[in-house]
Amino acid sequence: MLFRDITVIDENFEVRNHCYVGVRGDKIAYLSDELPKEDFGEVYGGRDKVLLPGFVNAHCHVAMTLLRGYAEGLPLDRWLHEKVFPFEAQIQSEHFYYGAMLGIAEMLACGVTSFSEMYFSCEEIARAVAESGIKCNLAVGVTSPVPPVPFEDNLLVRHMFSLFKRWDGAKNGRIKIDTCLHAEYTTDEETVRGMARLAKEKGSITHVHLSETREEHEGCKARRGGRTPARYFADCGLLESRAHFAHGVYLEEGDRELLRAAGASVAHCPASNLKLGSGVTDVPALLKSGVNVAIGTDGAASNNNLDMLSEMRLCSLLGKGIAGDPCLLPPREVLYMATRAGALSQGREDCGLIKEGFRADLTVLDLHRPHIQPVHDVLGAVVFGAKASDVVLTMCDGRVLYKDGVYLTLGEESIMAGADRSAKEILNRIGPVRQIESISE
Ligand SMILES: [Zn+2]
Repeated sequence: MLFRDITVIDENFEVRNHCYVGVRGDKIAYLSDELPKEDFGEVYGGRDKVLLPGFVNAHCHVAMTLLRGYAEGLPLDRWLHEKVFPFEAQIQSEHFYYGAMLGIAEMLACGVTSFSEMYFSCEEIARAVAESGIKCNLAVGVTSPVPPVPFEDNLLVRHMFSLFKRWDGAKNGRIKIDTCLHAEYTTDEETVRGMARLAKEKGSITHVHLSETREEHEGCKARRGGRTPARYFADCGLLESRAHFAHGVYLEEGDRELLRAAGASVAHCPASNLKLGSGVTDVPALLKSGVNVAIGTDGAASNNNLDMLSEMRLCSLLGKGIAGDPCLLPPREVLYMATRAGALSQGREDCGLIKEGFRADLTVLDLHRPHIQPVHDVLGAVVFGAKASDVVLTMCDGRVLYKDGVYLTLGEESIMAGADRSAKEILNRIGPVRQIESISE
């Protein structure tokens, strides 16, 4: 495909007008302001459109789309124990598939080309990723059973091993399996040390929830001799290979330095942190420390969407508003976080930039819309003006997956029907819903 006369966000996250971008196979093969001599096949007219790297949703629980809007207005512990855990306990294999497909369909329509997923059962999610054409770093959220068992006997660890065997590197590398710990408060030390050893052995990235709530952060210090979750994980050897931490709301100065020195990434999830009342990550401080900061939506149960455009906007506005500094987190920096930083957090060095030789993971936004015109500043229009509905094309590994509202690899209606059926079956299995007192009571 040849994108003709299109505005491009280039590898330096600068705007280049009237460009030609040629895609061959799974790569970007040509980028210039001159018409190429070679033939790239189908020509895509780029007038009033901007081509940018596909978004990377750096922290997600995609099958939780089935719980979208199911648990509202509850504090985290009640949210988990009264609503989320009972629901999740009844999810069966086909339900995971439809939940994942629903989330993937939503993300493709929002310009997302890759996501980092953590869930307790991943086989059907892998199948959905394989069929849909999107990229995914997939991880089993390992927790420790009570009473404890040896690392290799943990059923979740065994599930992870079977995923490594079946799916790691599958589909032209679109699917990567990450090592993973759910969190400090859900795992014992033997599990953390076992995972750290395994990550070193495999050279894998380890995905972990880190310092999401004050209770978790301070609780860890009380449990672990004053050590923060980041310090404790470092002591267990987890930072000796690459780590990918979600949230980091309560990170301290020393934690940021630990993460920077270890080359770890943080997936900032502003909407989820606000909705669950967890707080706001100090993104400017993290960036200043030199930590790679990406952006994620978290699951749809705590967001309620998987829309990276609204997440970018929120990220920038929060940074400015809290610091009282309108110069902080400008569109260029936030767009980098939502694309290239995400790709790096996934260990995908050849993704996340519009650059010759890079994977053709890209999205096209139509700026010819009443809520965007006139365009004085393209980057500002993308981050502050554009909505998910302005995405007109999503391409992953050179394959168009979504164009002008139409999915090319999946059936929108059958997925929505399957997801609706799944949610109803799960609710039936739970039985009568327990009454939750309203907030006013
Ligand atoms: Zn999460």
